[in-house]
Amino acid sequence: MRKTEPKAAPRPRVAKVAPASAQAPTPPCDGAGLRPTVAVKGPPQPPAPKPPPAERRFQGLPVGAGIAVGPAYLIEDQTPTLEHRPIPADGVEAELARLDEAISKSRRQLGKLRAQLAMLPAEGQAELEPLIDAYMQMIGPSRLLRGARKRVEALVSAETAVTEETEALAAAVLAVQDRDRAGIKRRAEEIREIGRRLIRNLTETPFQSFAKLAQGTVLVMDHLRPADAALLSPARLAGVVTEEGGTDGHTAVMLRALGIPAVLGAPGVTTAIHRGDLLVLDGGEGTVTVHPSPATMAAARRSSASFARERQKLAQLRRLPAETTDGQSVELMSNLEVPLELPLIAQAGVEGIGLFRSEFMFMNRAQLPDEGEQTEVYRAAVEAMGGDPVTIRVLDWGGEKEIEALQVAGIAEEMAGLNPALGLRGIRMLLRYPELLETQLSAIIRASHFGPVRVLLPMVTTIDEVRATREIYQKVARRLRRRGEAMPERLPPIGIMIETPAAALSADALALEADFFAIGTNDLTMYAMAADRADADVAKLYDPLHPGLLRLVQFTVEASLRLRKPVSVCGEMAANPKLTPLLLGLGLRSLSMNASAVPRVKQVVRSVSIADCARLARRVMEQTEPAGIRGLVEEFAAKLS
Ligand code: PEP
Ligand code: MG
Repeated sequence: MRKTEPKAAPRPRVAKVAPASAQAPTPPCDGAGLRPTVAVKGPPQPPAPKPPPAERRFQGLPVGAGIAVGPAYLIEDQTPTLEHRPIPADGVEAELARLDEAISKSRRQLGKLRAQLAMLPAEGQAELEPLIDAYMQMIGPSRLLRGARKRVEALVSAETAVTEETEALAAAVLAVQDRDRAGIKRRAEEIREIGRRLIRNLTETPFQSFAKLAQGTVLVMDHLRPADAALLSPARLAGVVTEEGGTDGHTAVMLRALGIPAVLGAPGVTTAIHRGDLLVLDGGEGTVTVHPSPATMAAARRSSASFARERQKLAQLRRLPAETTDGQSVELMSNLEVPLELPLIAQAGVEGIGLFRSEFMFMNRAQLPDEGEQTEVYRAAVEAMGGDPVTIRVLDWGGEKEIEALQVAGIAEEMAGLNPALGLRGIRMLLRYPELLETQLSAIIRASHFGPVRVLLPMVTTIDEVRATREIYQKVARRLRRRGEAMPERLPPIGIMIETPAAALSADALALEADFFAIGTNDLTMYAMAADRADADVAKLYDPLHPGLLRLVQFTVEASLRLRKPVSVCGEMAANPKLTPLLLGLGLRSLSMNASAVPRVKQVVRSVSIADCARLARRVMEQTEPAGIRGLVEEFAAKLS
């Protein structure tokens, strides 16, 4: 338990121990106790130069390969500036409920942060634990919260109450006459920090601005939403580090697609790193080093150069076929998150787009895109691919993918169920709002006039969902024909994502209605393991090498081969070259991944035989534990390199 200030009267119960970042470094020989007692003669000496800050390393989850070196751009606070807002007397109850909700949310966030501390080295834990405890205390039955509630009862909004109470308490702390001025300032800052957290949770600010990001900086944040990641410019940004997030969450997927080196789920970074601190980020290892020593800098330069050399070597594979040593062709395709990727995809030597995530069109905007706008976007992709198929997935809203346009359309509020990942996500939401689906299907059919297109449905669990979608599809096609729109004689095929365990285990039944399957191993792993793909706390559980997940993949592939339905994998497993032999061994011949992953996967395809891969898969499927599977996969990969 933390100690509190002895004379508690005007002072809130706040922390006594500061985070390392706020404590002045102790100079080696300059403490008061070591001051010389005899006067030193001679001219006054210039002050000794400050020792450079010591190097510190943080471990997070490796998300994007590549090394980044650059100054930190810490975005600490997205709290909006708020006006004093009075409320009517009959609004008090609702306002108190909002405040309570924000308090519970803040508690959950802090609880999560504390749990993540276990991943830090002991020294880091000792620094951060007292600080988080202090925050926890303030977010418990504290004077701050009592004061904020009283203010709401005196007829102001929850935001106004929190802002004004926080400021009043911080001012009271700062007014205390205490010799430890630094300690006083720290305590006031801790109160303000809790106030900011509450305000952030009260007002969800949808649009993030990265306009001030200087060229070559490394963005450091608590949490980066997928929609915000979509706004980042790979040309400006050197890398991204966050405290929260998982390796296969949508933020991670987006960052990989943009080719931005990134480390997510690195606890402690926002507290220890300050704006301008020099950072070395290794997206392959998942490490972030602040104040790198000359040796670390030299190593980073070497790694960066060898990364670039390898990229160049791999680029030479572009024109070579993806064919195994025993002559089996493997279809390699690309995923697309944002249109920015199109030129890269068109040059990646792929045979089409295996997953066009249409969510980007609905992000960071206030209006839903209409049929004309959508048609243009799809048409651009179809034309860029010059005759190779483009698999357009209809909107997969839900889970962690927050989409502003749907909030404006009033859909998001209504759909925000108890657990968005298990609620009206993907095709479920589209069938509830068929006008959204109709607009999108119309646009896709119109774009298919310009080249081969396939339609993909997300989050399917039942055969009825596919049937209902087909009916809408036919209706939309009839309407387009009546309108005299140019469209192909044969409508594009309709396939489904296999990303729920129920869909995987009924793939044979779904094959009766679906024209093809795309296995979404990201969600399939999440739902099979009951572990959120974006949650660093359960990152260890979220394991695509669990036998349970592999059996779901195996069942799906066997059913589709038996029933002659094309099947591919488009989750992040497809992008991991170490897993390529296993996927081929399980019978897959089509993989879709972010464009930058294609060369490495192609290199592996070209160096294995299907016979060896099948042997590996048989041994893997006999294993009972992920560790055994990982061992076999690594052993196979080591023989290739
Ligand atoms: C998946 O779930 O594996 C997938 C490819 O879809 P998304 O990552 O967009 O949910
Ligand atoms: Mg998915």
